Amino acid sequence: MKRNTGNRTLRAAAMQTGCAGALAGIRRAAPASGVLAALCWLAFIALLTAAPAAAQTTVLTNATVIDATGAPPIEDAAVVIVGNRITAIHTPSSAAPDPGDDGRVIDLGGAYVLPGLWNNHSHLGDLLPDPKGLLPDEPLPRAMIRAGRNAVDALKAGFTTLRITGDRDFIDVAWKEAFDSGAFVGPRIVAGGPPLSTDGDTDWLVRTGKGPEGIRAIVADNIAKGVQLIKFLGDRMPPEELIAGIEEAHRHGIPVTVHADNEATRIAVMAGAESIEHGNDLTDDTIRMMAEAGTFLDPTIQCNLSAEFIAERERQIVEAGYLDPPEVVEGRVRVSRADERSPEYANYARDVINKAYAAGIRLTTGSDSNPISEIGVLEIEQFVFHGIPPMAAIQAATRNSAEMMGMLDDLGTVEVGKLADLIVLEKNPLEHISHLRSLSLVIKDGKIVNRSQDEGQASFWELYLQD
Ligand SMILES: [Zn+2]
Repeated sequence: MKRNTGNRTLRAAAMQTGCAGALAGIRRAAPASGVLAALCWLAFIALLTAAPAAAQTTVLTNATVIDATGAPPIEDAAVVIVGNRITAIHTPSSAAPDPGDDGRVIDLGGAYVLPGLWNNHSHLGDLLPDPKGLLPDEPLPRAMIRAGRNAVDALKAGFTTLRITGDRDFIDVAWKEAFDSGAFVGPRIVAGGPPLSTDGDTDWLVRTGKGPEGIRAIVADNIAKGVQLIKFLGDRMPPEELIAGIEEAHRHGIPVTVHADNEATRIAVMAGAESIEHGNDLTDDTIRMMAEAGTFLDPTIQCNLSAEFIAERERQIVEAGYLDPPEVVEGRVRVSRADERSPEYANYARDVINKAYAAGIRLTTGSDSNPISEIGVLEIEQFVFHGIPPMAAIQAATRNSAEMMGMLDDLGTVEVGKLADLIVLEKNPLEHISHLRSLSLVIKDGKIVNRSQDEGQASFWELYLQD
């Protein structure tokens, strides 16, 4: 399970400078990128040795910290952020030193500070459903624009990291570079590129390879094109191809996730895959196997709901006081129903999640539907509505997500030394998970995200999801 992550900090710093491609080029000794790469190394060395004198200090005072380690909330705390890292957490908050004239103090009045959320099953450009029929034959530039809008909206809704489990034409890699370079302000992207499958798979989104060698070749090519994750459509692939593909990704030090039913899950777990997507029909024996291997499960609850579940859950959200515009509520129902299941199927999938949690499998939250912002929040709520405790649901959306991607040293909890990716909620999500909707502040990489919508800007629903 453990991957060699010794280079992670270095790679993360390189990505911040926008030189990741060039550095990767050096690792692969690509001759054409020599000059750029050399310049990037110089910039990178400067970055390592530069005094952090200009780093802005932000103090979030009078905060209630839900740090997502599983510990109880820390009341009356002050979270100190210097530059992009959390450098101290003081209690009581009055114990925090004055940040001086250049610093800023934000009094949260007791509001709740949590780690930034992750959506672990994101498709920036896909639409489930696609009521306007936009996807077939869509020109790439249009898909690209919708993908960027989707990602930016997600950040504004508190999703500071998106793990991409499939996008056409590496648009996720392009947006990752745009966000990392600062060309646009957006979430952190863990890019997966196009998902991989076997020869003959006609799904519009996938890349296919023939036989184990063909699969190895597309794995290597996805990695060369800049992904941080390889996603396989495991239940459509012959076992020997899936195993070869997982092996190839790991040979490059890249983690793997597998879209899988029970049978494909068993093969993926034996081959050492880090995580499983969906897994709605897992048997008790396979759950045991995953628990022993330490495999993560990203169950995408949103895709496996019955009509009864949907009606009941809408009611709970409205009862908690979140009355969205009716078209958004309707849209959420429609997105849920895009993949509506029989009550028996939905109940089985729900039981799998509870059994997996009881077995100690680390769960993560992924919506598999768009907009990532709205359906991403709904997915975390579904965990609790399915019976998972609120703290565990929050950890699924934060701590477990970072751990799954080998990024727990930097992300996933509110602790000293971590990158300052944070959200602030006005109400306590441990009391009602729908209080994730009482969002008042998003901080990504130590910077406050502008969450206001520009006058004249249409909603994602209006643009893409209302017929
Ligand atoms: Zn998906």
